[in-house]
Amino acid sequence: MKKLFYIDYPQEHIEGQMHRYRCVHCKEETTTINGRLDGHLSSCEYRVKLENAGYESEKTMPTNKLVSHDADDFD
Ligand SMILES: [Zn+2]
Repeated sequence: MKKLFYIDYPQEHIEGQMHRYRCVHCKEETTTINGRLDGHLSSCEYRVKLENAGYESEKTMPTNKLVSHDADDFD
């Protein structure tokens, strides 16, 4: 499984920093994480949870699983 962006992690405002947020768990800034699962630290609770759930951090999944309808079973 792979999501396009991983942005549903808990965030907290960085004190004294306007418009800057970080992951509650690993304290990486949102601009560092940049929507990527591997933007979190490998020890991040959020990342570990998603990886355990089967989400991929870097690998790409094949998307060419189109079903072909080439059977001409007309009577
Ligand atoms: Zn994190």
